Amino acid sequence: MKIAVYCEKMREDGLALIGKARAMAPKSRVIALCEEQDEAVLSCGADELAYLGLVLDDCAQACRVAEVLKTLGPDIALFPATVRGRFISAWAAAKLQTGLTADCTALSITEDGILKQTRPAYGSNLTADILCRERRPQMASVRPGVFPVPASTKRVEDRAFSDLSGLAAPSLLELLAHTPVEGGASLSSARVVVAGGKGVGGAEGFALLRVLAELLGGAVGATRSAVDAGYISYAHQVGQTGVTVRPELYIAFGISGMIQHTVGMSAARTVVAVNTDKNAPIFRSADYGIVAPWRETALYMLQFIKERKGLI
Ligand SMILES: Cc1cc2nc3c(=O)[nH]c(=O)nc-3n(C[C@H](O)[C@H](O)[C@H](O)COP(=O)(O)OP(=O)(O)OC[C@H]3O[C@@H](n4cnc5c(N)ncnc54)[C@H](O)[C@@H]3O)c2cc1C
Repeated sequence: MKIAVYCEKMREDGLALIGKARAMAPKSRVIALCEEQDEAVLSCGADELAYLGLVLDDCAQACRVAEVLKTLGPDIALFPATVRGRFISAWAAAKLQTGLTADCTALSITEDGILKQTRPAYGSNLTADILCRERRPQMASVRPGVFPVPASTKRVEDRAFSDLSGLAAPSLLELLAHTPVEGGASLSSARVVVAGGKGVGGAEGFALLRVLAELLGGAVGATRSAVDAGYISYAHQVGQTGVTVRPELYIAFGISGMIQHTVGMSAARTVVAVNTDKNAPIFRSADYGIVAPWRETALYMLQFIKERKGLI
């Protein structure tokens, strides 16, 4: 079996997919289609690095990816479900006239060797298992953070390398303007997540959490209730219908701890929960529980960290 994995520049999601491809089909040949020449893909388990380079016009890049997949003929092609990964996978699947399951949260191989693609369905009230029996490749994009980045183990010297960066790129987009998005660490790859729930009480509460997150070099997360209440944008939502995170440290302020939230943060190494209700379910997911109002606790943490860093 041949599995192609699309690896974006400066993102670890592709490495996690290489690890998953190796784990679910140990005898397969894993080919990394890379935007940069990064040996990490080989040491993480890919057998071959096909260097594509990066054309910023996503339409053009997707046409190139479709061409490469047609030539390589993999059984399976996996993409991270990032903004670019979603676009390129959908465009390439249409070009190749095959199916695509977007935003998968689990993958496995059936007994008859078909890729089982699992994703939330019907407003996330169900999960659906999807098989692509007829067309090839079987294509899926996978939600970032769902699979861990594997430890690098393989020796890389004898791995194959091909340079496909010279492939023609039909230009279909015209760049009119460039507006950078708001800064801060990416939520799905952040080592520290400072998250708030409905108990944080409003947008100004999240402004304080943002200061704490910046001080810790981390990102701000939120519950769906906080997002629905307009305290913060959806991009920050952690959980079943949001982002999956796996930070070293997750601090939960004013979060009750419903399962739809905790599935998105259960891979965090250390969880600290702050809640005024000592019976809040979040304490069952926490390594350290603080029964106290969130604001006073956050201000205390800020003061403590600033003192430790010599900032005051
Ligand atoms: C299909 C479906 C998908 C969903 N997907 C998601 C998802 O992706 N992510 C998600 O988060 N949720 C999701 N939900 C919603 C989820 O079920 C919960 O409703 C939500 O997580 C609760 O958010 P919360 O903890 O902020 O709010 P609440 O449940 O209202 O909890 C607020 C908490 O704040 C505490 N509190 C109040 N004041 C203070 C204070 N001053 N200091 C400290 N603590 C205080 C309270 O004791 C309480 O525990 C989904 C639900 C459904 C049905």
